[in-house]
Amino acid sequence: MLENYRDVAPQGTVELLRQLGRRVEGKSMVHVNSTRYGGGVAEMLHRLLPLFEELGVKVRWEVMTGSDLFYRTTKSFHNALQGTRQRITPEMYDAFIECNCDNAKRMNLDGEFAMIHDPQPAALIDARPHGATWIWRCHIDVSTPQHSVWQFLRPFVIRYDAAVFSLPKFSQRLPLPQFLVYPSIDPFSEKNCELEPDEIDRVLQRVGVPRDKPILLQVSRFDRFKDPVGVVAAYRLVKKSHDCRLVLAGGTATDDPEGAEMLAEVQEAVGSDPDVHILLLPPTANLEINALQRAATIIYQKSTREGFGLTVAEALWKGKPVIGGETGGITVQLIPGVTGFTVNSPEGAAFYTRRLLNEPELMAVLGRQGKEYARHRFLITRHLQEYLGLLIYLQQRVRNG
Ligand code: UDP
Repeated sequence: MLENYRDVAPQGTVELLRQLGRRVEGKSMVHVNSTRYGGGVAEMLHRLLPLFEELGVKVRWEVMTGSDLFYRTTKSFHNALQGTRQRITPEMYDAFIECNCDNAKRMNLDGEFAMIHDPQPAALIDARPHGATWIWRCHIDVSTPQHSVWQFLRPFVIRYDAAVFSLPKFSQRLPLPQFLVYPSIDPFSEKNCELEPDEIDRVLQRVGVPRDKPILLQVSRFDRFKDPVGVVAAYRLVKKSHDCRLVLAGGTATDDPEGAEMLAEVQEAVGSDPDVHILLLPPTANLEINALQRAATIIYQKSTREGFGLTVAEALWKGKPVIGGETGGITVQLIPGVTGFTVNSPEGAAFYTRRLLNEPELMAVLGRQGKEYARHRFLITRHLQEYLGLLIYLQQRVRNG
């Protein structure tokens, strides 16, 4: 309920949202992405769509389905667009187009507005109903894409009415209006809501993590760009001087076939250390993630490439000191020495971890400041406000011809 956000969002936010909502009341909008569970995009859609509904926008959410080859292809696209060279065969490009065509036939794409998330469904633009306004919402870092893959996607992208990126440097030279919208977290979701201390204890007991020493935590898919092996290396360095535990909590999103491979690498790096806990959680384990983040002493998001990094906003909101890779949206969220620290190596992560463990007062200050920063910039209410503004702008543009 929108009304509940009065308690957490900056003053005046709910009134503003209601006023903006009146301008698009009764309109319909379809969102399309490639997975209903796992990963930040699905997470945000689960929370944002009911708020659109409450404001009178009729929303639907369609999810792509595809063959193994399609998912392998889109994973390769994802890596290539984020700058890791991939070999994409003609069959893979064909599978991408074919799958988009099949999904276009199967899905209901009607509506005045559509928001198409990420590259996987980008080719659905071929099926845009007459007169509809379509937005390509890119959540990943396409600032230095593999040329061939971007050249393949670009002809689809330029046919949209607008593109939205999560950071200014992610945008590309495109002949269409581009917008910057940071992603967000919902303070009332199971993953972010307040928890009683005994509930946190119960959950930690259930997942088998004792609370006898400081807990260092990284929550993320087992993906190379999240650098879980680098986190293990940082922990090893810290462990020489501070007794602590490391928890790596992750699962594999249904659109990520490389997860198992990465997990095996992490397990090998960890060996038989009883103070390292690798938790393979189902995508529905929101309470567990919430409790782990609240129980953690320091939270990492040591990515080497990142779209935005919702886990950072989640950690800031919980008042935790955060150490993150100096990349993508992490740099927008972690202001060094104010809301957290950014690093470029396991050694850097270990350095700040030791410093924080030695200075509990600094941990508390960063935690307080980080929470206020998240309140103003990374909550769902700010996100909704910007999407509503975008719809109003595009609607006006269509009206003015
Ligand atoms: N997450 C989760 N279970 C996991 C790993 C991650 O629920 O095993 C959540 C995490 O808490 C966050 C989202 O998935 O809300 C990941 O978003 P982020 O932007 O950090 O990374 P992405 O996976 O989208 O690259």
